[in-house]
Amino acid sequence: MKKPDHSPWKLDTLLVHGSGPKGTMNAAGEPTVQPIYASTTYLHPDAMTLDYALDGRLPSGEPAFAYGRQGNPNAYALEDLMGKLEGGVGAAVFSSGMAAIHAALLAAGLAPGTKVVAAQDLYGTTITLLRKVFMPMGIEVVLCDLYNPDVAAFIQTEQPDVVYVEIISNPLVKVIDLDTVAAAARAVGAVGIVDSTFATPYLLRPIEHGFDLVVHSATKYLGGHGDSTAGVVISAKNSLLESLHTYANTLGAMLSPFESYLIMRGLKTLALRMERHCANALQVAHFLQQHAAVERVHYPGLSGHPQHELATRLLGHKGYGGLLSFELKLQAREAAYRFIDHLQLCLPATTLGDVFSEVSYPPMSSHRSLTEADRQNIGITAGCIRLSVGIENVEDIINDLDQALIK
Ligand SMILES: *Cc1c(COP(=O)(O)O)cnc(C)c1O
Repeated sequence: MKKPDHSPWKLDTLLVHGSGPKGTMNAAGEPTVQPIYASTTYLHPDAMTLDYALDGRLPSGEPAFAYGRQGNPNAYALEDLMGKLEGGVGAAVFSSGMAAIHAALLAAGLAPGTKVVAAQDLYGTTITLLRKVFMPMGIEVVLCDLYNPDVAAFIQTEQPDVVYVEIISNPLVKVIDLDTVAAAARAVGAVGIVDSTFATPYLLRPIEHGFDLVVHSATKYLGGHGDSTAGVVISAKNSLLESLHTYANTLGAMLSPFESYLIMRGLKTLALRMERHCANALQVAHFLQQHAAVERVHYPGLSGHPQHELATRLLGHKGYGGLLSFELKLQAREAAYRFIDHLQLCLPATTLGDVFSEVSYPPMSSHRSLTEADRQNIGITAGCIRLSVGIENVEDIINDLDQALIK
């Protein structure tokens, strides 16, 4: 079998075949699926080859492994595929989304005396990472509303070293003007990092919009089945990729062969799942919008969403993602709990992006550490519910929401 040339393949094909056989068939035959390499150590025919393997590559350019913390064939295959999917020069995988974000911020050059400008409504633990780990190291952290139209002027004034954003915010699903932010970051020489967890490369490839590093919590849509925790950083530049690998090795948050295998298995169906997530979410958003017990629905696919046009430009040709939030007419914690307790299909879960529909109450979960006033300030009301729309039959999802809403 000839070694396949992946370059002309479209994303859906790459997802299915990107981790396929290497084309080095031996007498015993080659498995169609990469086996799990459960070994901490790799042996080589001679000391010279081991010497090369310790640097990760043979003179032929083939990857080589020596010790588990430095990498394994399953993690390598996942890195290779993620790099291709996002159009980067390569990727590094980590044992969680947070480990990936930590390494990305370090690789971007955050060190004492530097400054990072980040969106104020980032994923809660990312804010905590900036405040509790980076600020005490002497890094200036500026959190602000980067979803507003003056974002370019703001970045120009602040002159940061790193700009960090999420494409779609949680839970109000605001959409960032990626091109404007990337251009503004570039103009001041800042490294641009974007958390693309909610979009996935199926909907959007931020490197094409000028970002330097793309991070994902692969725990969500990339894995998609609620059975593995993982993170990935994709780099647009070789220099950044090199420091990512240095941090991956020295911080020790390597992704295990088992988890790499599960994420790879999940990726095979990413395109199909995203297609269904997006179609279901749009239908659920329309249903909720006309429901008597619902005050407001936040979904970029609705024409009333403040960034609907921007979202259509960035994501719209394939869909608007699987995540939405809505506000109950009864703006009270008790009403939210009653609704959640009456659900029979949608799971009360603090995660998202899985095949099953998942509901969370941000004041209890993702935005728990904020005061009521802080939450009001960023628009998260007491009746706010976040819904990660799964790939079940959409009528079953809608019926479940309906019966719980009228209780
Ligand atoms: C879940 C999540 C993270 C953190 O990822 P873990 O895999 O839980 O460490 C970061 N960013 C976003 C947007 C997330 O949803």
